[in-house]
Amino acid sequence: MTVEQFKDTVKALGADLVGVAPVERFSVFSPEAHPLSIQPQTKSVIVLGFMIPRGALQGVESGTAGYTLGAGIPSSLAIEVTYRTCRGLEDEGWEATPLFAQSGAMRGQGERVSPDKPEPNVIVEFDFAAHAAGLGEIGRGKWLLTPEFGPRQILTLILTDAEIEPDEPFAGRICDDCGACVEACPANAIDPAKPHCAPLCEGEACWYSLHIENCLVCKTGTTRLPYYGGSEPFRLGAACGRACVAHLEDSGMLTRRFASPFRAKQEEV
Ligand code: SF4
Ligand code: SF4
Repeated sequence: MTVEQFKDTVKALGADLVGVAPVERFSVFSPEAHPLSIQPQTKSVIVLGFMIPRGALQGVESGTAGYTLGAGIPSSLAIEVTYRTCRGLEDEGWEATPLFAQSGAMRGQGERVSPDKPEPNVIVEFDFAAHAAGLGEIGRGKWLLTPEFGPRQILTLILTDAEIEPDEPFAGRICDDCGACVEACPANAIDPAKPHCAPLCEGEACWYSLHIENCLVCKTGTTRLPYYGGSEPFRLGAACGRACVAHLEDSGMLTRRFASPFRAKQEEV
C-alpha cells in the first residue's frame, strides 16, 4: 500500500486530515513529552484531524444555544477512526498506539516505574505533531490553524513502528497576527506584548501569552473535550476562537468556503 492509498483509506473511514512525521522530528522534546517514552519502537507519528462543523458554533455565536457546539465535536468518530486505523496497521504486523489529547497539567502526576523513565503522564504536544506532519501551524492564539478549517478541528495521534513516507513540516502562514483573538477576549487573558516562543522541528512557533486561569472561568463558550484530561479548556467556542474563525474566513485565508459569512447579519425571527 502506498502512503497515498493509506491516507485515502483513513479518510474514507472519516478523518478529514492525515499527516505523517518521522519520530526524529520530536528530538526537541524532553522524555516527558516524547513519543518514544510511550512506544519505544515508534518510527512514525500519524496525525489525524477531524473537522468541527462551522454551524456548530452558531448557537454560541448567537448567544442563544450554547449546546450546539457539543454535538459538533466529533469525539466518537475520532475514537472510532483512530481505533480502526490502529487495527488496520496491526493487521499488517505493525504496532499502533492511539493517543488522545491531554492537558500538559497531566504531567508529573504519578510515580516513576524505574529511574530511567519519566514520571507519568508523558504528554505529547499535539499541535507540534500536526505542524511536523504538515497539517498546519500554531497561530498566535495558541491553537492549531489548518489551511482547510483554521482552528476548527480536533486531533488524534497514532505512534507506530511502521516506517511511513513522511510529509514535509508545514511551511505556510495562516495566522496574520491580526490580534482579533486578543480584542475579542473580555478578560484580557491574551497578552500580545509578551509572545512565547518554542522550537519546532524546523524554526519556532510564537504565540501570545495566555493567562489560562482566566479561561478556566470564561463564560463566552469554552467547553471540555470528553476525552481531554487536565485543566485546559477547549477555546474554539469562546470569544477568542470564534473571532479567529470569522477573521480567517473574512480574509480568505481558508480553503473551505461557505455560501454565507460566519457572522451573518441577524435576520428578524
Ligand atoms: S477562553 Fe475566554 S478568557 Fe480565555 S482567551 Fe478566550 S475569550 Fe479570553
Ligand atoms: S485571531 Fe488573528 S492573531 Fe489570533 S490566531 Fe487567529 S489569525 Fe492569528
